[in-house]
Amino acid sequence: MNSRILLVEDEPGLSLTLSDLLLSSGYEVETAGDGNTGLAKARGGAFHLIILDVMLPGRSGIEVCRELRQAGSDVAILMLTARTQIVDRVVGLRTGADDYLTKPFDPSELLARVEALLRRVHKENPIKVLKFEFGTVKVDFERPEVFRDGQHISLAGKELQLLRYLIEHREHVLTRDQILSDVWEYQANITTRTVDVHVSWLRQKLEENAQFPRYILTVRGVGYRFQP
Ligand code: CA
Repeated sequence: MNSRILLVEDEPGLSLTLSDLLLSSGYEVETAGDGNTGLAKARGGAFHLIILDVMLPGRSGIEVCRELRQAGSDVAILMLTARTQIVDRVVGLRTGADDYLTKPFDPSELLARVEALLRRVHKENPIKVLKFEFGTVKVDFERPEVFRDGQHISLAGKELQLLRYLIEHREHVLTRDQILSDVWEYQANITTRTVDVHVSWLRQKLEENAQFPRYILTVRGVGYRFQP
């Protein structure tokens, strides 16, 4: 699974160096050059980790971090600080950052911290769900059986696997590639279009109005999110 990282850094040179470094290490990277853009992108929610400089034009990294946490985001945040005094503030203010690095730092140190944080993120994957209810839908993955409004709904094997995957990762944004690799395990001739088709079948079977889904939501340009 490719981890998506948002890098919020206003120094163009450093931003370029770090994004090159992260890209060459196999991460997907998006950048923002000021606090407001960073916050807006972070709110899109499609990131596993945010690397956040403290001193930014617009909103400071501390403010961005605090706003994200207040809004209930649990995304991993690594703060970049210029001086140790600011480290004290970051820690003292309990902004909710998970880790911090003081500039200047060694790129390998940044990569080590990023890897450690992401390991933690991926380890927190939810436990297996056996039964689940949302709206008027009741799912029993053990039997397996699905009911909607008390009526039995027939799901194909992959539909059921996809539904389970979405439910087990509920409230997380899942990219099509992520879904493809985890549910289909990259079988030959399978493309992200397959994911879209199966999502649409699930919606037709489980949503009250497949055109305006309430549970299996599209995150534009990224993928899907299950919202119970
Ligand atoms: Ca800065």
